[in-house]
Amino acid sequence: MNVFKAIRRRALAHYRTYRGVRFIVEGLLSSRHPLLAHLIPIRRCNLSCAYCNEYDDHSQPVPLDLLFSRIDRLAWFGTRVITISGGEPLLHPELDHLIRHIHRHRITTGLITNGYLLTADRIQGLNRAGLEYLQISIDNVMPDQVSKKSLKVLDKKLELLAEHADFHVNINSVLGGGVNDPQDALVIARRAVALGLGTTVGVIHDGSGQLRPLSPQEQSIYLQIHHMGKRRLSFARFNNFQGDIAHGRSHQWRCRAGSRYLYICEDGLVHYCSQQRGYPAIPLQEYTLEHLRREYTTEKSCAPHCTVSCVQQVAIIDNWRAPQRVMAPLPRRPSAPLVQVKSELRDSTEVVSAD
Ligand code: SF4
Ligand code: SF4
Repeated sequence: MNVFKAIRRRALAHYRTYRGVRFIVEGLLSSRHPLLAHLIPIRRCNLSCAYCNEYDDHSQPVPLDLLFSRIDRLAWFGTRVITISGGEPLLHPELDHLIRHIHRHRITTGLITNGYLLTADRIQGLNRAGLEYLQISIDNVMPDQVSKKSLKVLDKKLELLAEHADFHVNINSVLGGGVNDPQDALVIARRAVALGLGTTVGVIHDGSGQLRPLSPQEQSIYLQIHHMGKRRLSFARFNNFQGDIAHGRSHQWRCRAGSRYLYICEDGLVHYCSQQRGYPAIPLQEYTLEHLRREYTTEKSCAPHCTVSCVQQVAIIDNWRAPQRVMAPLPRRPSAPLVQVKSELRDSTEVVSAD
C-alpha cells in the first residue's frame, strides 16, 4: 500500500472514531432521535440462503426519488446512522447515489452485503460515494445446501476489500443451528484478522429473532471470536448480552425498536426490526415524534430471548434511563409476502456504528 493511501485510511479511521464518540455522547444527552435505521432499497437477492426470510427473487429496485424522500425523513428525525440492507443492496443500480444522499445529510452510512457483486471498481465507487462501514456475513468455509456465503467463494472479495476499501470492513461469522461445523466460524474470523479486517460473530436465531442455546464447543468458539474483534470502540464490549447469548441465558434489556432503531422496508413502512415486520408497519412519511416517544417507552415481550444484536447494541445507550411499561400493541399489519423460508433459521446482523 502506498504511503498516501495509508495516511488517507488512517485519517478516515480517526474520523470514524470521532463520529462514533459523538454518536454515543449525543445519544446519552438526548433520547429523542433515532440512533440507527436500516433501509431496504431492494428486496431481491442473488442468493437464496435456506434460513433467510428477508429476500425475494423478483422485486424491482425502489425508485431513487422515493428512497431520497425516506432518507430526508430520517434526517428530519435526526437519525445518526443509516445502514443499507436488503435483499442484496448491490443489486440496486443507483446504490452509490443513495449513499451520496445519506452522506450529504452528514449521516453515517453503512452497507450490509453478501459480497458476491464486489469488484475493485465497485469498491472504489463506494469509496467515492462516502461509504463508512461495510459488513459481510460469511456462514461457512465451503458452500452447502444451506448457504453459499462461503469463505471459499468470497475470499477473493475479501482480498479486494483489504486492498481497495477506504471504509471499515467487518466480517461477521455465525454460530448455531444450521451451521454444519462450528470451527468454520473460527477459520473465517482468523482470515478476516489476517487481512486486517474487523470480525464479529452472530448467533443464528429462529424466525422471530429468538435465541437457541449454543453447545459447549460453540460457546467456546463464540467467546474466542468475540475477543478477537479488533474494534477499539465497540458496544459489545460493554454489553452482557453477548455472554448471555453464548450461554443460552435470557437477557434483561430495554428494546427501543420503533424509536432509537427503525427498520424501513422496501414499501417505506416502519417496522420494529427485520424479525418483527408488521409491527407497527406505519408509513415512514406518517411516522411522527409521538410514535417515536410511544415506542421508546413500550416494553417488547420478545426482548429476553432476542438475538438481533444491532438493536441490542444501540439500546445500551439508554439502558440507564427510565424503565419501560407494557402497552397495548398496535395492530399488526401484513407485510408483502417474501420467499418461503425453507427452514425457520436465519442469521443475526451486527450494527456498523463504531470503528
Ligand atoms: S441471508 Fe442475505 S444473501 Fe442470503 S438470501 Fe438472505 S439476503 Fe440474500
Ligand atoms: S426485542 Fe426488539 S429487536 Fe428483538 S425481536 Fe423484539 S422487537 Fe426485534
